[in-house]
Amino acid sequence: MSPARRCSRTACRRPAVATLTYVYGDQTAVLGPLATFAEPHAYDLCDEHSERLSAPRGWEVLRLAPDPDTLGPSSDDLLALADAVREAARPAPVEVAVGPVPDGVREVGRRGHLRVLRGVDD
Ligand SMILES: [Zn+2]
Repeated sequence: MSPARRCSRTACRRPAVATLTYVYGDQTAVLGPLATFAEPHAYDLCDEHSERLSAPRGWEVLRLAPDPDTLGPSSDDLLALADAVREAARPAPVEVAVGPVPDGVREVGRRGHLRVLRGVDD
């Protein structure tokens, strides 16, 4: 068993029952079942704070069965969806070209410190 999770709100000592995940790209906050492990963009909330949740202006809130007592046979689907959302919330790795341009590749553009490279076929 994992150790007891607490609500992440300041001065709140209640046990966490839900995990809030921010998807910054879509300006969406997803409140779902308690995550199996902590992530940088996820916040554990107690039942009280998950009910009083309010998203920043312009943001949308998706609630995925915040009360564990209401979880039915479809909880696996909800967990899978929550995991997918968390996966999407992770910042994508940025490929940065450094050093000299290798043979067979020519530089076709520059965006900031990133260079756009394209293979030379003929
Ligand atoms: Zn709380």
